[in-house]
Amino acid sequence: MKRKWMAGLAACTAVALGILAAGILKETVKESSVEKEIQAYSDTDFAMDTVVIETMYTTGENRNSSVGETLREIEQTLLSWTNQNSQVSRLNQAGGVPTEVSSQLSGYLETSLQLSKDSDGAFDPTLGEIIRLWNIGGENPQIPAEEELEKLLQKSGYEKIQMEGTNVTLKEGCTLDLGAVGKGIGCDVIAKELQNQEEITGMILNLGGSSVMAYGQKPDQSQWKVALTDPRDVEGEYLGAIALEGGEFLSTSGDYEKYFIEDGTRYHHILDPKTGSPVHNGLTSVTIVCDSGLLADGLSTACFVLGLDDALQLLEKYDADAIFADEEKNLYLTAGMEERFELLKSAYTVRAF
Ligand code: AMP
Ligand code: MG
Repeated sequence: MKRKWMAGLAACTAVALGILAAGILKETVKESSVEKEIQAYSDTDFAMDTVVIETMYTTGENRNSSVGETLREIEQTLLSWTNQNSQVSRLNQAGGVPTEVSSQLSGYLETSLQLSKDSDGAFDPTLGEIIRLWNIGGENPQIPAEEELEKLLQKSGYEKIQMEGTNVTLKEGCTLDLGAVGKGIGCDVIAKELQNQEEITGMILNLGGSSVMAYGQKPDQSQWKVALTDPRDVEGEYLGAIALEGGEFLSTSGDYEKYFIEDGTRYHHILDPKTGSPVHNGLTSVTIVCDSGLLADGLSTACFVLGLDDALQLLEKYDADAIFADEEKNLYLTAGMEERFELLKSAYTVRAF
């Protein structure tokens, strides 16, 4: 596990290199007759169980530390499974009784449930117990017995969540897990906060390399660039680079992020809600770019489960760009992604959807 965490850190650090290079950049903006210098500040933090890399361009002071604080607060008060007082935990402890949640959480839940419907259940925020049973990425991951999975599958399913405004009921035995959209939600919250901070002219926020927010502009007006990890060479060179505009969000779901290998089979953390087991459809990663952090994150998980053939309709509905990598080292790009993607490894072949 430590090795994988280190790999993640190395990946994030390298992702940030291009950004850090900008750390020495100073530009001047003219506001009426007052000239203000834009400074770049790059920092590393830890929140939402991952390494956070933040680069902020501002005419004011470095406010990167408040980004990490906000992310930890969202995790603790809204999304956490381990903090018994988070809103998600309270729902899971309610035993079928209707429970009031904040309008913030009910908004995220509504969007998530709509994505569940639109993806025909491929994105399913009720797999909590099954995820815990596998414990992939934890200390002692295990392959569960079929009967155990069957039992828990009976209790899961997004249709077991009922909502009336901010009043939420989970059918008894059903547990909510927003792990597949948590980092995206974090990116959305930060993007919203930045809108009230005029002195911040641009920011790129990278949560563990898997969820990225681009906000505003760089002083030299060049595009934000995000590195794409090679799913089979996570500590090596990047597979490619993806350009983002301010206001866009990127998320990647990959079978290399949390996994274990037993008898030659890779058991990873993206589960097929129909079987309760890791998806094996030849894909190794799915990357999404769209204008919402939550949706980019949820769509990357949903599209990984749906596979290449069934994902296109969903991507069109959400007006999202995507890149799918498979075991054969093919990269399938939507038309919009072709314009923003630069291939860096010749071992991969770029193909249209
Ligand atoms: P991501 O890396 O964003 O694809 O999220 C994967 C995480 O979401 C896993 O570690 C699980 O906690 C959870 N998860 C796994 N499979 C699904 C699924 N089909 N729908 C929703 N959440 C899932
Ligand atoms: Mg996701």
